[in-house]
Amino acid sequence: MYNASPTRYDSMTYNRSGKSGLRLPAISLGLWHNFGGNDVFENGRAMVRRAFDLGITHFDLANNYGPPAGSAEETFGQILTKDFSAHRDEMIISSKAGYYMWPGPYGEWGSKKYLVSSMDQSLTRMGLDYVDIFYHHRPDPNTPIEETMGALDLLVRQGKALYVGISNYSAEQTREASKILRQLGTPCLIHQPSYSMFNRWIEDGLQDVLAEEGIGSIAFSPLQKGILTDRYLNGIAADSRAAGPSVFLSEKEITEEVIGKVRKLNDIASARGQKMSQLALSWVLRGGKVTSALIGASKVSQIEDAVASLNAPELSTEELEQIENILRG
Ligand code: NDP
Repeated sequence: MYNASPTRYDSMTYNRSGKSGLRLPAISLGLWHNFGGNDVFENGRAMVRRAFDLGITHFDLANNYGPPAGSAEETFGQILTKDFSAHRDEMIISSKAGYYMWPGPYGEWGSKKYLVSSMDQSLTRMGLDYVDIFYHHRPDPNTPIEETMGALDLLVRQGKALYVGISNYSAEQTREASKILRQLGTPCLIHQPSYSMFNRWIEDGLQDVLAEEGIGSIAFSPLQKGILTDRYLNGIAADSRAAGPSVFLSEKEITEEVIGKVRKLNDIASARGQKMSQLALSWVLRGGKVTSALIGASKVSQIEDAVASLNAPELSTEELEQIENILRG
């Protein structure tokens, strides 16, 4: 029996997403890894409970999260039924479609046929009537953007999504998508790009477009999939993502050069009384340009680390310069 903590809203920061009415927690939890059918259900359940107790109201999914694909939504649906039936109106639940999900011409990319079908499948897997945010997961070079944005608008009008977002769109694609969505009367709520100390592509144009268009942003993989933590400072831990079956982080990426930089960054974190992962989150959220940092976690303590990062002081100009020097080096 789960009783949500009565203090769950006492310390989380909530940031407005662009010019919308929706406020998102500064830390959101993604269910890409560790919530699949191959993972331990009770561990995922404990992480969602702890996240909610710490004020994390936003949970990010996609049709293909697992493995197997679809199973993270099923796991989350079970957690909702068991523990959160009294709390649906306190939660922001996201899903997406865009990557490969089922065979044939209608199981990936950006057609109306795919997006509408996938939305219905996601709702069934999670046992929901609607999601709060539905994203197009990646741009589709072969479908007119008007069709894809029209499908997002349709899903809102059908009551299957409250807000819509885009993910992995370039600055130019974002400007175009935003214009079409505004004309349709369903403004783009949020963009979900990758962003971390080691991956700064959004600073080169996209952030300007988001500010101009009044769109929020939620940065995925802010810990660079675990590299910007203390995980790999002393070798590759057996229970880490790099050592596990995930094809999205291999041991080859954990090079001496990369870890050399993380060690130096970790010294700055220590001087601030932070863990490496906490410094990485303070950095992503610096200056208020990013609405929410979208973390992943394999254990409850990692969620606690992330939320505690919000208590740290803002990074000083001097600290930011030191970080720049390390990243350039
Ligand atoms: P992160 O960069 O936050 O990496 C999370 C991983 O870092 C954890 O699974 C854990 O790995 C490690 N970690 C986290 N906290 C700590 C800590 N305190 N100490 C040590 N290690 C820690 O994000 P993800 O790559 O997991 O992505 C987050 C979310 O972003 C996804 O769940 C998904 O919702 C979204 N996403 C969206 C994409 C898109 O195309 N729109 C693509 C990818 C992700 P370990 O297992 O080693 O413990």
